[in-house]
Amino acid sequence: MLDELEAGLLALDAGHLRRRRRVVSSPQAARLEVDGKHLLNFCGNDYLGLANDVRLRVAVQAGVEAYGVGSGASHLVCGHQLPHEQLEQRFAAWLGLPVALGFATGYMANLGVITALMGRGDAVFADKLNHASLNDACVLSRADFRRFAHNDLAALEHLLAASTARRKLIAVDAVYSMDGDMAPLPALLALAERYDAWLYVDDAHGFGVLGGGRGSLAHWGLRSPRLIYLATLGKAAGVAGALVAAETAVIEWLINKAHTAIYTTAAPAAIAQAACASLSVMAAEGWRRERLQAHIAQLREGLRTSRYALLPSESAIQPIVVSNSEQALRLSQQLWERGIWVAAIRPPTVATARLRVTLSAAHETTDVAALLAALLELDGN
Ligand code: PMP
Repeated sequence: MLDELEAGLLALDAGHLRRRRRVVSSPQAARLEVDGKHLLNFCGNDYLGLANDVRLRVAVQAGVEAYGVGSGASHLVCGHQLPHEQLEQRFAAWLGLPVALGFATGYMANLGVITALMGRGDAVFADKLNHASLNDACVLSRADFRRFAHNDLAALEHLLAASTARRKLIAVDAVYSMDGDMAPLPALLALAERYDAWLYVDDAHGFGVLGGGRGSLAHWGLRSPRLIYLATLGKAAGVAGALVAAETAVIEWLINKAHTAIYTTAAPAAIAQAACASLSVMAAEGWRRERLQAHIAQLREGLRTSRYALLPSESAIQPIVVSNSEQALRLSQQLWERGIWVAAIRPPTVATARLRVTLSAAHETTDVAALLAALLELDGN
């Protein structure tokens, strides 16, 4: 059996085989320490620079003092502690959505929600660029899993019109994790209404960043009983976990049916306490979003006349598409040697190889300038 695995590993193209992970020995910030080396970080998802914020650290410490470390049980037994409840309530109130339910991670939320709502005889309509956790959820649900070309509303409508499924659900990322562009949520909701479907919105990369921090539904001004909304807390919020918000009946159904909420130990209450603190900071500190937007504009302007091909993204995710995997790896390595960490993302994770640059309010203007200078020096070669 081990021989078989070893052969499988060797069969992976050399560029894709990873034998180890880079160990970061500092907090998440604009600069990271790796193997004693200090690197400018352009590959994290800490979009607002909150992952090491002192108020969040204090909240965790206070949470540990008040509630200990382990939550001791699942939410339905005795693990649902006061900060878990407060987090759900504050989140729903801030977003103006009926009720919310917490999960330990976004991945678990996607698995839990979709498998609880959909089953044999139902159909899920999913954008081809959706996150892997959504795809896994759709497969696990046993519903008919239909994928449509990225943001192709006509293709989606064609599938919806042809479907005879009992229940239908359209699932999309609000901001695509590898391309950085947005789903046309108003048009998707209109289709959900026309074809009597749910619209599931994974806002992992929009929550905290768009709509004054409230995320993609606020950005587009959308409200509907058909909407099921997911925000993750490990990215802009700087913590960990996820919240799903929807109509009361949906959330009560999930409390009773979502396996990833029922059959798992609740996340530590101190983490929920930190997430509560993060919601307050995100709501109050609009300057973080302004600073992020300024960095995005600086990067795009700086590469406008260069040979680098940026995708049309207005989000913190600014991918630079390159010719092939080798070029992506080479550029990433050359940046690394210049003290800059940018992830090379290659097929099969994405269709076309790219450098996935992510920006954060934690960066200084001079950090973005340093990235630009290094990229221009390498000149896309
Ligand atoms: N959805 C999307 C679009 C994501 O990018 C991610 C994380 N990469 C997840 C869900 C999973 O969230 P978490 O990291 O909290 O498990």
